[in-house]
Amino acid sequence: MSNASDIPVMPIDPSPLALKPVLPAKPAALYSHRAKRLQTLAEDSPLADYLKLCSSLVGVQAKLAETDMGPAPELNAALEQPMSVANTHDNRYWLAQLQTLLSEALPLVPANVAEIIRELMQQSPDQWAEWGNSLRQGKFSDVPAQYSLFIWAAMSLYWSHWAPALISRMDANAIKQESLCPVCGSHPVASMVREEPREGLRYLHCSLCETEWHYVRAHCTACNQSESMELWSFEDHQAAVRIETCDDCNGYTKMLFVTKSPQLDAVADDLASLGLDAQLSEKGYSATTVNPLLLAHEAD
Ligand SMILES: [Zn+2]
Ligand SMILES: [Zn+2]
Repeated sequence: MSNASDIPVMPIDPSPLALKPVLPAKPAALYSHRAKRLQTLAEDSPLADYLKLCSSLVGVQAKLAETDMGPAPELNAALEQPMSVANTHDNRYWLAQLQTLLSEALPLVPANVAEIIRELMQQSPDQWAEWGNSLRQGKFSDVPAQYSLFIWAAMSLYWSHWAPALISRMDANAIKQESLCPVCGSHPVASMVREEPREGLRYLHCSLCETEWHYVRAHCTACNQSESMELWSFEDHQAAVRIETCDDCNGYTKMLFVTKSPQLDAVADDLASLGLDAQLSEKGYSATTVNPLLLAHEAD
């Protein structure tokens, strides 16, 4: 399982332009890029302190992604969303990642955050496991808000490690277009508009296992209708971060045009563009996505 990158992702399609329904993550490279991106975005942001804190934490994820992730979870690739909380409820191997992540993060954070980490370290593994499952079920208010960031970071580190090998064993033809991650059932962070393998394809980026899955453009990612969709850009028509709104369910998702700006990262750029969320909220729209660095709102 640990040599996930050595296994072909999907049955090979002869056409180089063939659409891949699922793109597995490369966690170490992804977290390393995200940590740098958060630093860059912090230079010119009213959220600088928070972005820098997140950068430190994601830097720890990048470091730990290169280490042994412990025993493999028991997963059945034939199930729908094999890694969903319903299918992996009893997994506790990720708790070791939480322990290590907290120890590594402790010396890197400001004193007030270090205090929160110490409090969290004193909680029992049973409590950690319960909070982890609550977060994955979208019950964010069941978990003290100051702990959610760290618990989610550890779960993401653990599950993103095992997702690529699992994806290689899943039947690509059975994966339907879904609003939730076909691998772990979590909400997306944002939409990525990519130029590979064809320009303009939209992929949703998973907030937990970092997998991306294809989703057709101009379809609502929450209610799946395509009649009342609108694409907004607040700065200019060529903005790299735009918004797709749905007037049926009043939901929206951010569209990150990697085609315009290759440095974009789903989690970092969604967080750094929180100003857009405020404007959308004023217009009566609500987010249909979840940012793992900001588990503030309840997911449906
Ligand atoms: Zn996922
Ligand atoms: Zn909708």
